[in-house]
Amino acid sequence: MLRLHPLPAFEDNYIWTLAAPDGRALVVDPGDAAPVLAAAGEGLRPVAILLTHHHPDHAGGVAELRRRFDIPCYAPHDERITDASDRVGDGDRVTITELGLEFAVIALPGHTLSHIAFHGHGYLFCGDTLFSLGCGRMFEGTAKQMLSSLDRLAALPGELLVCCGHEYTLSNGRFAQVAEPDNAARDLRLEEATKLRADGLPSVPSTLASERACNPFLRVDQPGILQTLRDRGASTAEREESFAALRAWKDGFR
Ligand SMILES: [Zn+2]
Repeated sequence: MLRLHPLPAFEDNYIWTLAAPDGRALVVDPGDAAPVLAAAGEGLRPVAILLTHHHPDHAGGVAELRRRFDIPCYAPHDERITDASDRVGDGDRVTITELGLEFAVIALPGHTLSHIAFHGHGYLFCGDTLFSLGCGRMFEGTAKQMLSSLDRLAALPGELLVCCGHEYTLSNGRFAQVAEPDNAARDLRLEEATKLRADGLPSVPSTLASERACNPFLRVDQPGILQTLRDRGASTAEREESFAALRAWKDGFR
């Protein structure tokens, strides 16, 4: 039985760990080595690293952890990532023999052009593409690319645990309430997340089924969202336009 545990890093990042009872663990997106080394002091034994994209708050700890533990790092084909041992892309599989795990890799351009996700065994490590109740900013990709990446994630099995890169659920939830005022499932999810945060606990992972029901960026075809966008003067003739308008609105939302 593996234990999933997010290590908080920086302001609001999560470094995901998936550990066997003896401490051997997979580490995902270690932007900082320090929280992983602190966990290692309490018995965590990293055996491999998965990296979703090149941003320093995800990749910054890779070099030090690889040096300390002599472990592989599976990362996207991107020359901005210099510390990986193995490059993977869409359709590839990653096997972590020590933990009996195998993950499928999917390409998710949008937040960055080389962003990837790993899924398998009930887990989805999706970096900064999909958040609970939100999605990543489009730093490099187009709205069309980001929407198609989110569509690919949304088509995966609903029971997958969405292990995302940041604790953004409450601020995303405030936007979701305005973007789609009438969504009872979302109200419940936000209430649950608010309680978890008040207790000092992570609001994630959620499930993909929950995100499909609650996350406005996976719901750009829903009448409630389309109406809100039209009320703001946005064109919703094309799905891609609706998504672009929603994302641009969120970029400026406080
Ligand atoms: Zn990022």
